Amino acid sequence: MNDNRIRELIIIGGGPAGYTAALYSARANLEPLVIEGFQWGGQLMITSDVENYPGFAEGIMGPQLMGEFRRQAERFGAEFLADDVTRVDFSERPFRVWVGDDEYLAESVIVATGATARQLNLESERALHGRGVTYCAVCDAAFYRDKEVVVVGGGDSAMEEAIFLTKFASKVTVLHRRDEFRASPIMVDRAHSNEKIEFVTPVVVEEALGAEDGKLTGVRIRNLETDEVSEIAADGLFVAIGHDPTTKLFVDQLDHDEAGYLVTQPGSTATNVEGVFAAGDVVDHVYRQAVTAAGMGSMAALDAERWLAAREGHAATALTAPRS
Ligand code: NAP
Repeated sequence: MNDNRIRELIIIGGGPAGYTAALYSARANLEPLVIEGFQWGGQLMITSDVENYPGFAEGIMGPQLMGEFRRQAERFGAEFLADDVTRVDFSERPFRVWVGDDEYLAESVIVATGATARQLNLESERALHGRGVTYCAVCDAAFYRDKEVVVVGGGDSAMEEAIFLTKFASKVTVLHRRDEFRASPIMVDRAHSNEKIEFVTPVVVEEALGAEDGKLTGVRIRNLETDEVSEIAADGLFVAIGHDPTTKLFVDQLDHDEAGYLVTQPGSTATNVEGVFAAGDVVDHVYRQAVTAAGMGSMAALDAERWLAAREGHAATALTAPRS
């Protein structure tokens, strides 16, 4: 199917950034099409209680929060397509976005495809996700008051999460596959000097234990030097081995950093392609919060709206003009 309509705005991605961009741009009468992904909702869909999204004093379930985001944008006329974008062409306007063989055209695009936490890729890890296995200490640390937890990883995130977890947990064991750390020395020193934190290296996690009970009870680890296998009892397994931005579709067309995160102009959500904006975790590898992603989504919608309004001949090419 070729949809000849040239839209003002297509938003790619259905997480906090994409839905907030949809809300703002729908309220600005841009009639956005949100191609939200087959698994719409983003990382919050695999999170249970969200206690740090402002406005919900009692907390809210992640999927419920995303449902509300979506409904709010829908109320103002945002259109949704729950499928995955398979190809884009940002080389000329109108920009072209494909979902399989279906082509969509737009004068502006907001990329809000997010990022995913790297997993250890263990079957037991998947089975216990949300039942002791987690990828976000800021989100979940408070559930582990006076409990013993393990953190996997040797980067700044792992150190930061281990230190943060000591505010709640009675003991934090950092498991890393090498004796050297990728994290900055100051972070490693800080973690080392915390008496609640213990380091075990060089080890890999072979199994998250407890799948048969439906709740994490510990981890089985293997020492890479000695091959010795042992178990550590734990109520929480915090996997902190990095994130991957969802940018495969864009890296040959949009500026990005070494890790693949899209680069926007300082103080703006504009990318290197005029009319293409980016927001949320696809850009931000530092804060990675639903609330910051939502904030950036609103910025992208405002940037797109202003850009569309300032563009010469904007009114003439509006909405239903066929593509030449
Ligand atoms: P990262 O720097 O890529 O570190 C990932 C860590 O996980 C590495 O130690 C890596 O081990 C380990 N790892 C990767 N895959 C693994 C696997 N399959 N099994 C076991 N271990 C695995 O990621 P990050 O810590 O999330 O940091 C990302 C960026 O954000 C960095 O630039 C970092 O400096 C920055 N950051 C900064 C702060 C801060 O300054 N406060 C806080 C957080 C993050 P190897 O080392 O052996 O590869």
